[in-house]
Amino acid sequence: MGKRLPRLKPTPWDLAVALCVAALACAVLFGARRGDAGEYVTAVVYADGAEVDRVRTDAPSERAYSANGYTIQVQFGPGARVVSSDCPTQDCVHTGAVTYSGQSIVCLPARIVIRLEGGAASDDAPDAVLG
Ligand SMILES: [Zn+2]
Repeated sequence: MGKRLPRLKPTPWDLAVALCVAALACAVLFGARRGDAGEYVTAVVYADGAEVDRVRTDAPSERAYSANGYTIQVQFGPGARVVSSDCPTQDCVHTGAVTYSGQSIVCLPARIVIRLEGGAASDDAPDAVLG
């Protein structure tokens, strides 16, 4: 789907992307199974490992974040979802919506991480810590 930039050879980022996607898939599975519905969670947005925003997800909103030359458009409430991105891999868009505390969306090219925190299981360790 969509266009991909031509790549001459695999880079370490490719491996990192593959690992993160696998980890995310597990996180989504375990997170969905835990199922603490009804509690609002906070989406914390990190760029280059630094927190840049914190958004309550109990009300709908949409914001854009830019880092490392890429811009991602994120829809909040309920949960969080990357609706569009100009990054080459589109993994963040393909991740879809996350709704449970501990789940994350990662955009590796932009080095942006959106992690859901809070809710009922705030003392619980996140399923996946990425980056
Ligand atoms: Zn992305």
